Amino acid sequence: MTKIFYFLLLSQAIIFSQAPYTILISFDGFRHDYMNRGLTPNLQKVADNGVKALSLMPVYPTKTFPNHTSIITGMYPENHGIIANTFYDPVTNKTYKISDSIQVRESRWYKGEAFWETAQRNGIIAASFFWPGSEVNLEYRRPRYFKDYDHYLPYKLRVDGLIEWLKLPQKDRPRFLTVYFDATDTYGQNFGPNSDSLNYAVNLLDGMAGYLMDKLAEINLIDSTNLIFVTDHGMTEISSDKYVNIEEILGDEKVAYWNWSTFCLIQPEKGRLDEVYNKLKSNEKHYKVYKKSEVPDFYHFSSSPLFSDLILFTDLGWEAGDTKAQKRFQEWNAKGNHGYENGELDMHGLFVAMGPSFRKNYKTGTLRNIDIYPLLCEIFDIPVRNGIDGKGERIRFILNKY
Ligand code: AMP
Ligand code: ZN
Repeated sequence: MTKIFYFLLLSQAIIFSQAPYTILISFDGFRHDYMNRGLTPNLQKVADNGVKALSLMPVYPTKTFPNHTSIITGMYPENHGIIANTFYDPVTNKTYKISDSIQVRESRWYKGEAFWETAQRNGIIAASFFWPGSEVNLEYRRPRYFKDYDHYLPYKLRVDGLIEWLKLPQKDRPRFLTVYFDATDTYGQNFGPNSDSLNYAVNLLDGMAGYLMDKLAEINLIDSTNLIFVTDHGMTEISSDKYVNIEEILGDEKVAYWNWSTFCLIQPEKGRLDEVYNKLKSNEKHYKVYKKSEVPDFYHFSSSPLFSDLILFTDLGWEAGDTKAQKRFQEWNAKGNHGYENGELDMHGLFVAMGPSFRKNYKTGTLRNIDIYPLLCEIFDIPVRNGIDGKGERIRFILNKY
């Protein structure tokens, strides 16, 4: 009898000595100031009971896949390899594209170690209800539980999926989980960051935060779970007249290009680099053009071998491309975009977190998204992978153990 009692006591101690459950929630394109619109009572509850940062600074380029990969690896895109949503590898002659599920699952593109890999190496089970890179085609690089991306899967089912995983027996239950929602990006791009439709999306995602908290309370895990709400980038207003037509500037020059939009990767024909560069440089208005070797260090953007010889960055609110891309852009008539410099406040996103590991009712300034990976390592008390760009000492003060 006493033996059984001690066994039960010991197993409880083991359970309680484990790190809390931690859910990383991404609201795509949720700009840092959307919480000031009076539409987010649930996120406010998280802030009041936890930590709220003034903003979360993304990495350059402020696009979805590069930033989600930086959040989950703690590395800059030039180091983790996902340098854009679309890019080309001249060695293998393959193009990475987020709409191409075969390439998105190709493990070779992902040079960094995602937190779920670090966690699982340390015996912590991970699960992902969507996150860029979570579906890779090598089992040991994926979270134990994952889902193939389905843009149209109703949001409540994503939360229900997390809850099902959290109801698994202890030995199979994940401790680290991710989930992703696109609405603020989709509505922000189609209708603009100041539209009623965007406000609807903000309120919708806040409702998902509330639904998740209610469901966690139902299974008695709300007090033992960290919730970390983050964003990959912000959003700014655009208009169809703010467009630089590169084809008109380049005339007869033939170039290969990727990402005609807020930044362009441009590959001139052999022997034509200086001519193409000079044409773009002498017309430099509403954009900046660099040779790969001259891109300023603060972008942390160009040391990857995957970069083209020229890179063009548009000014906030501007787009660039050829005549075909311009026509497509005008037909779409988008009202918002991202992809601009990560120093621009409009590109900054949301960071609010609460749970047993976090300080309570604590406000702080801007945090960097590359520091979230080491923050997760701090929470789970496991070593960070060597060679990351993020730094735990820049963010750990938001945890209550410091
Ligand atoms: P963008 O705004 O162009 O940077 O990309 C946003 C889009 O990325 C969203 O509309 C999603 O459809 C897409 N997306 C987000 N996560 C994934 C994923 N795991 N797999 C494929 N596409 C995704
Ligand atoms: Zn995004």
